[in-house]
Amino acid sequence: MNGLIHLTHDCNLRCPYCFTGAKWKREMDADTGRKAADFILDQVARTGERAVLSFFGGEPMLCFDTMKAIVEHAEVEARRRKLTCLFRMNTNGTLITDEHLAWFEAHDLVFILSVDGNQAMHDLDRVTASGEGSFGELEKRFPAFLEHNPAMMVSVVITPRNVGHAAAGLRYLLDTGFKYLIVKPDVTAPWTRDAVAELERQYNLIGDDYVMRARRGDELYVNLFDDKWLQHTKGAEAMGIRCDVGSSQVSVAPSGKLYPCVRWVQEEQDTVPALGDVWNGFTPDRLAAIVEASHAPKTPCGDCAYSDRCANECACEHYSATGRIDTPSPALCEHERVIVPIADRVGNQLWREQNLVFLRKQYPDAVLAARRAASKAHDPSEAPEERTNK
Ligand code: SF4
Ligand code: SF4
Repeated sequence: MNGLIHLTHDCNLRCPYCFTGAKWKREMDADTGRKAADFILDQVARTGERAVLSFFGGEPMLCFDTMKAIVEHAEVEARRRKLTCLFRMNTNGTLITDEHLAWFEAHDLVFILSVDGNQAMHDLDRVTASGEGSFGELEKRFPAFLEHNPAMMVSVVITPRNVGHAAAGLRYLLDTGFKYLIVKPDVTAPWTRDAVAELERQYNLIGDDYVMRARRGDELYVNLFDDKWLQHTKGAEAMGIRCDVGSSQVSVAPSGKLYPCVRWVQEEQDTVPALGDVWNGFTPDRLAAIVEASHAPKTPCGDCAYSDRCANECACEHYSATGRIDTPSPALCEHERVIVPIADRVGNQLWREQNLVFLRKQYPDAVLAARRAASKAHDPSEAPEERTNK
């Protein structure tokens, strides 16, 4: 189970697309945080899974001391219960110093960094309270971040405002050394026809850039393509990576209340009822109701040809965009209809070229079998008589 621990509602940035609600000063205290860790460990002790504690906000680095107290407590408690507990964080990165990086290394805490591409793209939305772009200072930290974790995941949001920079922005991140990109369109924003046409143009450019990098042997992951390929090659099995509200993950608000998703913590005003709290556990009927609603068929999807590859599983995202758990936003639907054909074009091209970067990820068993066959053929003890130099 993934326990998303919201350390604060506050943030030092004011991204207009932020879905974590108003920025106000309410922080989780250390006792509530320790209780939240115990609650997650108790849940996984019943199922035998591993626990993941992911620090979230607002900006969790505003509450680093509380994070430390929770991690140090969870390490002891997980050892005592013979459980595996991993630590994660989603952060805008602006407050992370070298001392923090050393502490993350000592405690195996891995963070996902939010950066919207290059400066031109990033500074359109990711601004401070006084409206200044946050890219300049953040960029200075990239070498230290990559040295700390060369496999660092970067999260990028594409909006109708920044879409014209998307291909250049992603190219910049890959050129800088970030190899693993999670790209999400802001589907709660209104996308005009022109903005969707630009999105399609940019995705085609990003696809062409992916092909160029794969041809020269770069290892990379861009969810826009890799996830669609995985859904194509693995079908229903790949759907296992999808979100599962209130079951495989739960969000803990600074007050200790439980919510099904990071999107629903917001101001804790109970526009969505809490699922319980860390002291008393889940309220079973609320949990059952949300799980059932999130698994219900999506309203406009019916027998849509894209339904088994569509990113329409996020009940909480639907609720944010349309006010209904079972109704994806029109922007999400348009996005999926744009990206699936482009992912297929790029995937088909790499398949025809028998590109190893592509094959290793999508067909690892076949690549391994081919390697074994090739090494047998080159093993003198296995090689046919006429292929040896006797
Ligand atoms: S940095 Fe993250 S939490 Fe802060 S305003 Fe931006 S999206 Fe919201
Ligand atoms: S593309 Fe649209 S209609 Fe089709 S499954 Fe996705 S959200 Fe539903």
